[in-house]
Amino acid sequence: MSDGLPCLNCKKPTPESDAKVFAEVFVCSICYEMADRLFHRLEGELRRLLLLTKETIRVALIEGKLHFEHTQEREVPKDELLRMILQFSEKKDREADARRSGS
Ligand SMILES: [Zn+2]
Repeated sequence: MSDGLPCLNCKKPTPESDAKVFAEVFVCSICYEMADRLFHRLEGELRRLLLLTKETIRVALIEGKLHFEHTQEREVPKDELLRMILQFSEKKDREADARRSGS
């Protein structure tokens, strides 16, 4: 019992000094590191996606292309928005590629 409770992820006995809690899950410090790193990476990607979402809407507004037919509905048409974001990000990628190969 002196070894402590097992980490829920890797099952390794974890002494109290090495114990961590990630999102209310009891884990060892190694698994915590792993979870924390993954969380921050995904968080970064989501933040980028959020910026891209804003930029997509901005461009759509400038080009006068923001014509959701569901603006009266409470649900945002996510698939439509996602489609626009993907198109926009692909366009940006293509532009970046063109710049790279051009220079
Ligand atoms: Zn662990």
